Amino acid sequence: MSSLQPVRGTHDLIGEERRRFNHVVETARRIVGLYGFDEWSTPVFEDTRVFSRSLGDTSDVVSKEMYTFEDRGGESLTLRPEGTAAICRALVTNGLTQSLPQKVFYAGPMFRYERPQKGRYRQFHQIGAELLGSAEPLADAEVIAMGRDVLHALGIGDEVVLELNTLGDSASRDAWRTALIAYFSERRAELSADSQARLERNPLRILDSKAPQDRALVADSPTIAQFLTPEAQAFWDGLRSTLDTMGVRFRENPRIVRGLDYYGHTAFEFVTERLGAQGTVLAGGRYDGLVAEMGGPATPAIGWAGGIERLSMLLEDVPAEPRPVAVVPMGADAQAASLTVLQGLRAAGIRAETSYRGNMKRRMERANRMKASHVVVIGSDEIARGVVQLKNLDSGQQAEIPFDGVAAALQAGSAAGG
Ligand code: ATP
Ligand code: MG
Repeated sequence: MSSLQPVRGTHDLIGEERRRFNHVVETARRIVGLYGFDEWSTPVFEDTRVFSRSLGDTSDVVSKEMYTFEDRGGESLTLRPEGTAAICRALVTNGLTQSLPQKVFYAGPMFRYERPQKGRYRQFHQIGAELLGSAEPLADAEVIAMGRDVLHALGIGDEVVLELNTLGDSASRDAWRTALIAYFSERRAELSADSQARLERNPLRILDSKAPQDRALVADSPTIAQFLTPEAQAFWDGLRSTLDTMGVRFRENPRIVRGLDYYGHTAFEFVTERLGAQGTVLAGGRYDGLVAEMGGPATPAIGWAGGIERLSMLLEDVPAEPRPVAVVPMGADAQAASLTVLQGLRAAGIRAETSYRGNMKRRMERANRMKASHVVVIGSDEIARGVVQLKNLDSGQQAEIPFDGVAAALQAGSAAGG
C-alpha cells in the first residue's frame, strides 16, 4: 500500500502549531466577549444554496473554489468556504430576526479549492465576528475597533495597517460599475482571460483580481469617490469620524472591494508586509442584503473574518503549557501507589503524568523529555514509611514528603517543591 498523506492543502495541527491556534482563538474569544459578542457554531456543511445565492456567482469562491458534492440522498451540499452566509442562515432558521441586534463570534475550519502556498490552504481556519441588525456607522466602527483590539491582544497590532474603503450604496455602485465597464472595455485585450469574462457580468471583481496584468490596469481605474450618493457619502464620513474619535488609525485604499459580492458601504482589511502575497490577516465589511437572501427580513449587518493560519504565523512567543510533574514508581507496589499520587496532583489542579512501563532510567529520561519541573519518586522503602521523594529537576534539590503532601509542597514552593 502506498503511504497515506494528508490531502493537498490540508495540514495537521500538532504541538507548537496547535498551541498557536488555541492562543489565537482564545485571545479573540476573550476580546470579543468584552464587546458583548457570543459564540455560535454552525455546521461545517450546508445546503449549497446558502453559498451560491449569497457570495455571487462571479466570485472566485463560487466560480471555482467550492467543495460541492451530492450526498447519498441526492442533495447538493457544500463544505463551507466562509462563515458569514451560514451565520445569516442560522439567524433566520433559529427565528432570531426579531431579536436584534445579535453579536456573534465563531471559529472553525473553512474549505476552498485554491492553489496551496504559504498562508493559503484548502482547509484553513477562521475566527469571525458578525454584528447583525445595526445600520449605523457606529456599529461598523465598533466592529473594526474590535478587530484591531484582537490584533493588539495577539501582540501584532503594530505590524498591521488598517486599509479602509467604501463601496457605497447600490446607486453609487451602479454608477461606478458603468464607469468601470467603460474603462476596462477600452483595455479589454490587456486583461487576463478571467477578467475579460468578468467584464460585463461583474467588473468590480476585476479590482480583486490577483493576475499581474490586471493589477496594472486596476491601479488607474476610476474609484467610487466621485459616484457616491449624498447618503453614501454621509455614511462614509460618519464612519471615518467615528474611527477618529475612537483612536482607530486607518489608511484609505480605494482599491479594496473584497472577494465576495455581498459587501456594500464599508470594506476593510488589516494587512501586513510580513506574509508576502498573503498579507491580509483580517478583513470584512458591511453586508446589508445577506439576511434577506437567506429568506429573512431586510437586516443590516457588518462583520469580519481573520485567517488563523496567517495570524498564527505572525505570533511571537505563545504562552507554553505549564510543565508537568512526573511520577516515577519503582516496583509493582509503587506502581499502584503512584496512581493515587497522580490523582491527588490532578485534583489539586497540577499537570501530572507518568509513563506506564520502564526502569527508573527510562522513566527519568521521559520526564526530562516532557520538560517536567519535578519528579516524584516512589519505591518500596518509601511506601513502607508513607513518604515519597520529591525532586526539583531545575535546582536538583530533593526532599522527603508525606505521601499525601505532594500537592501542598509544590503549591507552597518549599525547597524541593519550588
Ligand atoms: P485572499 O484575498 O487572501 O484570497 P479573501 O478575500 O479570499 O482572501 P476572505 O474570504 O475575506 O479572504 O477571508 C478572510 C481571511 O481568511 C483572509 O483575510 C485570510 O486571512 C483568510 N483566508 C482566506 N482564504 C484563505 C486560505 N485559502 N488559506 C488561509 N487563509 C485564508
Ligand atoms: Mg480568496
